[in-house]
Amino acid sequence: MNTGLDNLDILELDRRTFLKAVGMLGASAFLGNYGTQIARALKVAETKVVWLNGAACTGCSMSFINSAHPDVVQAITELNVNIGYMETLSPQQGIFVDGAPAGTSELNSELKIEELVREGGYILVVEGAVPFGGSGRYLTIAGKPFKDILKQVAGKASAVVAMGACSSFGGVPSARSDIRKDTDYRGLLFTGTEKKGAFSELGIDKPVINLAGCPPNPEFGLITLGALILGKITPADLPDILDRYNRPTVFFPPDHTIHENCPRRGYYDKGQLDTEFSGEHCLRKLGCKGPYTHSDCATRRWNNALSMCTKAGSPCIGCMEPGFPDSFSPFYRESEGVGILLGADANTIAKVAIGAAAVGVGAHAVRRVMVSMKKHDAEPEKAEEAQE
Ligand code: SF4
Ligand code: SF4
Repeated sequence: MNTGLDNLDILELDRRTFLKAVGMLGASAFLGNYGTQIARALKVAETKVVWLNGAACTGCSMSFINSAHPDVVQAITELNVNIGYMETLSPQQGIFVDGAPAGTSELNSELKIEELVREGGYILVVEGAVPFGGSGRYLTIAGKPFKDILKQVAGKASAVVAMGACSSFGGVPSARSDIRKDTDYRGLLFTGTEKKGAFSELGIDKPVINLAGCPPNPEFGLITLGALILGKITPADLPDILDRYNRPTVFFPPDHTIHENCPRRGYYDKGQLDTEFSGEHCLRKLGCKGPYTHSDCATRRWNNALSMCTKAGSPCIGCMEPGFPDSFSPFYRESEGVGILLGADANTIAKVAIGAAAVGVGAHAVRRVMVSMKKHDAEPEKAEEAQE
């Protein structure tokens, strides 16, 4: 496909065209087309990445490590993405190594962080939520509350990226539970949909790019870090390229849900809804939240663009949205009475679709019938007039 974006000098592009190229080509094709140019630029880039691991399962690191184009080893060795600090990937490190005090920043992670903070100007990636309960005792590293480490490191960062649902919105650690009040886990800017995050509590006034997801797609991370390192995104650009939950609209389009490009969408339109797992039809009745979830999972896909949740037979659980997991629980049960398309639930859609199929009309006609039903509910007389 000729998109008109195939032979550009990527380093000369302004930010808008750069983002347009990423959006139109998709991250894999984008990296495939421009990998050499980006590699050349990154080789001379000095920017370091500091990656802090808060309260999380480390799934976001695992997802990032499993990126395909380039993989992380290529990113580090060939593209010169300079990961200055990352607990998951670092070799043996700590205050003590092999039982003896580690005296140099090569081995002592506390000294390493202090060194990086002195230099400043790094990109900070935060994975995991930040606990505030019990003065931060629910996550300490070398006896130091994580919230204090975050405060120390965030202050000197040139940009901050929240990697995954937990650092973006609190995620699973901040989910409903008997101990939630005591632990008080937060995302950096948001906790759930509320703007009540760790940064405001710590007095840090910095924008954050939220790469939501449990985990986020690895391409979100590579493209965002690449764009920041190359100066294609600066903090001043962020209001134009992020949605109201600080997610880049290029990955989380506000006017698009997974449902629209879902590989099972044809079955939904025909009212063919599976009621048991392992079928091939729409997963709506098994609890799929694709109709409420804004992200490009269905087009970008995962594992080298091989598959994605609904294609593999698992209902979408809405992991890219703020409020996950509480707002999307229970995961595998139909959300009864919640309108999804034109205000109708799946049962109504199924009835209309079956009726429409019987008289040989297509999906667009189903939507027309639904609009008319909706109007009828709201204004019965006007709807009747409209149908005549
Ligand atoms: S409800 Fe879920 S499985 Fe069905 S078409 Fe929409 S996104 Fe796909
Ligand atoms: S399809 Fe749904 S559950 Fe799967 S990664 Fe995307 S948002 Fe998360």
